[in-house]
Amino acid sequence: MRLFTILQAAALASTALATYPLCGFEYPMNYNMTAHIIDGTSPDPEIVQLGVATAFGNPGGPIPWPRDSHNLITIPYCYARQWDRHHVQEIFERGINEWYAALGGKASKQSGHGIVFKERVDDKGQPLTCRKAGGVVDWNPDVPYDTLAVVWTAGKWGATLGLMRQDPPGPWKSQFMVSNKWDVASTMHEMAHVFGLAHEHQRPDRDTYIAYNCEKLADFKKVFALAKSDDPTITPWELCNDFTTSLKYQFRGFEYIKGATIRKEWTIRVGGFYDYDSITHYGTTTDGTPECNTRFEREECALMKWTDARKVDVEPLAEYTTKPSRWDLEWIKKQYERKDPPK
Ligand SMILES: [Zn+2]
Repeated sequence: MRLFTILQAAALASTALATYPLCGFEYPMNYNMTAHIIDGTSPDPEIVQLGVATAFGNPGGPIPWPRDSHNLITIPYCYARQWDRHHVQEIFERGINEWYAALGGKASKQSGHGIVFKERVDDKGQPLTCRKAGGVVDWNPDVPYDTLAVVWTAGKWGATLGLMRQDPPGPWKSQFMVSNKWDVASTMHEMAHVFGLAHEHQRPDRDTYIAYNCEKLADFKKVFALAKSDDPTITPWELCNDFTTSLKYQFRGFEYIKGATIRKEWTIRVGGFYDYDSITHYGTTTDGTPECNTRFEREECALMKWTDARKVDVEPLAEYTTKPSRWDLEWIKKQYERKDPPK
């Protein structure tokens, strides 16, 4: 397929994305596996008409960042330590600025959104780090818990969804794990999670639109062999579809499980049509095998797009999306719409 060849050739130029690591993880992982029945209601019916996936509206789950007394939606953040600030400030702030640019500028009537990223500072305007030895779990007592903690990692990626204000409130709930080896597109992908967007390819209705073959993910064979040596009764289906099993063995397939994200009980809410172009959507090469990514053998690809509703033929998805889609932006502007300050 011609399209395939062109896209895959482009993908080769960007090998850094071929091993897309952890993403959308809650860290430190602290989950209970109590299943909740989701009531099916959504916080704002108008908002979910757009082509999006979120995990808002789940009991105890992620919530949108709140408005302040000026009607702005501030996303307060702190770097975990000076070390983290030193290493990732540049890439983190670039990600913020690229998002502002994509949204049509900073918070204003003109841009239509009210989002303001703001580093936590002390009364002299000096940045506060999230971490301070001696606090609760080493959390700096001068920093409110509702703060996004920006944490340097050697290579793992991840961000929590929206604001994590769990009961009881606690430190380190909302996190952004970033490496200074990142590119800005990946930083923007994680920031989409911070706004509250979940992976589009994990929508419960995704099978209508994409052909997913879990056993063709690049790490499947290795992880399955490891899991099998640990538990001889394990099946490929369990590793691919069971949330707990997939998470236990740190299988990349975790990021492809249908309908759930971060925690099993936080169901993904579908909004409107399926958006192939969302910045949250993985590409065919994201976790592809060499056979898929470099030899273009499409039967060896884990994630493809159905060419039509009959689901007969497939074609590759665009390589890992590098900019927000129109519908990502529209949803963000609706969710975090700029409103006049109260009089
Ligand atoms: Zn992600």
